[in-house]
Amino acid sequence: MKFYFLTLFPEIFETYFEMGMLGRAVKSGLIDYQIINIRDFSDNKHHKVDDSPYGGGAGMVMTAPPIVTALKSIDKYTEIPVVYLTPGGKPFSQNDGVVLAENKELIFICGHYEGIDQRVIDYYVDLEFSVGDYVLTGGELPALTLADAISRHIPGFLGNCESLSEESFEHYLLEYPQYTKPREFEGHSVPEVLLSGNHAAINKWRFEKAQERTRKKRPDLHKKYEKSLLNE
Ligand code: SAM
Repeated sequence: MKFYFLTLFPEIFETYFEMGMLGRAVKSGLIDYQIINIRDFSDNKHHKVDDSPYGGGAGMVMTAPPIVTALKSIDKYTEIPVVYLTPGGKPFSQNDGVVLAENKELIFICGHYEGIDQRVIDYYVDLEFSVGDYVLTGGELPALTLADAISRHIPGFLGNCESLSEESFEHYLLEYPQYTKPREFEGHSVPEVLLSGNHAAINKWRFEKAQERTRKKRPDLHKKYEKSLLNE
């Protein structure tokens, strides 16, 4: 998988792709990425990339020409899905990560200021995603969020292939509680069943805890879980 990031702040990305599991995936060649500075494609002598909105109003809007020229600098860009990060997009979900991981390449456009000229969205963007009902200053963190979530679904990214199937949001349930050493911590001990060695009992406990947790913390998700049982 290759990710392209069209951004005004290229420096934000490097560290994230150098560390942890993403760093390992980049080193092994499973993931590749290219950061494209939209400002490099401005034909303005001061590298200006924004202007005031038609119709008036506060703030500035990112102009279409440098974004589209940056996009066209990508080889065969018309064959690659273009994702714009915006609070007005579809709320990104685990399942979107699964679906997007099937692509070989993805292009992310990171907005700033009041966003980007609507004509870029209308004529060049394929998918619009939001990371939540709040407004951030830029699309870089949302783009990294999606890239991270998508990467986890690329075959070979996670060492243990079972890790994904038991994680939160798989099958509409949150994950069960996890414990590790020490066995006693500040007078609180690990649930006895996890020390029993009885895998059937452990699986049953984990499944019940996942259901209980989802019901309490995410009743909306639990409703989907119940509905999915009816469809089985
Ligand atoms: N004026 C825009 C609005 O009200 O929808 C918000 C613009 S925001 C300050 C600047 C950029 O940050 C956006 O163009 C988008 O790329 C990114 N952004 C902010 N919040 C986001 C969110 N919740 N999800 C995805 N992208 C977001």
